[in-house]
Amino acid sequence: MAKDMNYAEILQKQKIFFNSQKTKDLTFRKTQLKKLKQLVKNNEKLLYEAIYKDFKKSEFETFGTEISFIYKDIDFYVKNLTSFAKPKKVTTNIVNQLGSSKIYQDPLGNCLIIGAWNYPYQLTLTPVIAAIAAGNTCMIKPSELPENTMRAMAKLINENFDAEFLYVVEGGIEETTEILRLRFDKIFFTGSPKVGKIVYKAAAEHLTPVTLELGGKSPAFITENADIDVAARRIVWGKFINAGQTCIAPDYVYVHEKIKDKFIQKLISEIKKRNYHENAEHYCQIINERNFDRLERMIDREKLIFGGEINKETRYISPTVLDNVTWEDAVMQEEIFGPILPILSYNNLYETILKIVNNEKPLSAYLFSNDSDEQKMLLEHLSFGGGCINDTLMHISNDNLPFGGVGNSGIGHYHGKYGFETFSHQKAVLDKSIYLEPELKYPPYTDGKLKILKKLL
Ligand code: NAD
Repeated sequence: MAKDMNYAEILQKQKIFFNSQKTKDLTFRKTQLKKLKQLVKNNEKLLYEAIYKDFKKSEFETFGTEISFIYKDIDFYVKNLTSFAKPKKVTTNIVNQLGSSKIYQDPLGNCLIIGAWNYPYQLTLTPVIAAIAAGNTCMIKPSELPENTMRAMAKLINENFDAEFLYVVEGGIEETTEILRLRFDKIFFTGSPKVGKIVYKAAAEHLTPVTLELGGKSPAFITENADIDVAARRIVWGKFINAGQTCIAPDYVYVHEKIKDKFIQKLISEIKKRNYHENAEHYCQIINERNFDRLERMIDREKLIFGGEINKETRYISPTVLDNVTWEDAVMQEEIFGPILPILSYNNLYETILKIVNNEKPLSAYLFSNDSDEQKMLLEHLSFGGGCINDTLMHISNDNLPFGGVGNSGIGHYHGKYGFETFSHQKAVLDKSIYLEPELKYPPYTDGKLKILKKLL
C-alpha cells in the first residue's frame, strides 16, 4: 500500500487510522507489541548480521545493549499498560465540591520518531514501543548511516505492519527534511544538538511537542576517595563499548592529581586485559570514514600515552588515552563519540565542578568516590541529564529512572512509565455534580461574597 504513496499521503492515512479509535483499544496495543516482539525474535539473526556489516557490532553487545531493551520494554508495557492507561483519580479541591477529578492518558496521535545511528535498534524501536503502548501511530526514520540496519528495520516493519499504523522511511537528510514539513502530533528525536535544533525549529512551525534526546561532553570524576580498581574497570567498559560511540559514554576523565599516576596505570592494564585488538570480535568499527577522520584529528600524538593505533581501511581506532589534556586541546572542543579518553587532573573538586557548570549541560556525569560530601557536592552543583555514582552507563538500564538530557543535551525523557507519559497527553477533567450550586461565584458580587472568597482561596 505504501509504495505508491508519498509521505504526506501516508501521514494522512495514519491520521484517518488514529481517528478510527483503533489504536486506543488496549487489546490492539498489546497485540501489536507482542507481534513486534515475535518479529524481532524471528529475525534476530538477520538483525545481528545487518549490524555486524554496518560497524562490526558483536551479537553479544547487540543483544545486551539493543535487542534485550526491545524485549524488556515490550514485556514491561504489555504488563503495565492497562494500569498506565487507566484514568487516575486525584483530590478535588473545596471550591469544586461536589465533584471528582481525573487525569486521562490521552494518546497524542501521529508520531514521528527519528533515530540515531549508534544503537540503531534500541534508539529507533524503544520509542516506537512506548508510542504504541500509549496508543499512537508512528512514522519512523532510522539513521541512514548504518545502512543495513536501516533496511532491516524497514523490511521488518513495512512488510508486517500496515503503513496507516507504522511506517519506516528509508533515507537521509533530504527525506527527513521533507517529513519534517508535515504536521505530526509529536516528534521524538535522538541525535546531535545541531540537528536537534533543526528538528525543534520545524516542530515549532506546527507547535508540535518534541522530545529531544541529544548528546554532549559527559565528565567522569575520580576523587582521592574512589576505589581506583573499580573506577578503572567501569570507565574502560563504559568508554570502549561500541568503540566509544555511546551518547552517555564518559567523554573525559577528571582525576585528582594525587592519584592520577596510579589511576592511569590501572586504566591501561584494564584496557590491555579486555583485548580490544583490531580483529577482536567484541570491538566495533568506527561508523564511517567521516567520523574516522574526525577522530583521527583529535589524537594529539604528543599527549598520547596509550593506544593510538589506527587503520582507515578497517575503520579501526584502538582504545586511546591522552594525558595532560587541557580545555584548549582539539579533543575537548566537541563531543568525542569515539574510543579516545582524555585525562585531565584537578586538585580541588569544588572548583573543578564550578568550571564545568559554565559549559553546556552534559547528558551524563559520573563520580567515583565513596565520600558522601563529594557525592552531594556533584549532585547539588552540576546539572546533567542522568548518571551514576561509582559506575558508568548503567543508569540507562533502570526503567524506574527517566532517561533524557537537560539544556543542550535534550528536552524531555522516556523509559518505563516516563515513556508512556511522553507519548500521552495528560488530559485533566473535572466532573461536577449538578446538584450543589453555591451562589458565591456568580454576579452580582457583594462585600459578603468577597469576604467568603478571600477565606476560601
Ligand atoms: P545526527 O544528529 O547526525 O543524526 C540523527 C538523525 O537526524 C538521523 O536520523 C539523520 O538522518 C537525521 N539528520 C541528520 N542531519 C539532518 C538534517 N540536516 N536535517 C534533518 N535530519 C537530519 O546524530 P547521529 O550522528 O546519528 O548521532 C550522534 C549524536 O546523537 C551524538 O551527539 C550523540 O550524543 C547523540 N545521541 C544521543 C542519544 C540520547 O539518547 N540522548 C543517543 C544516541 C546518540
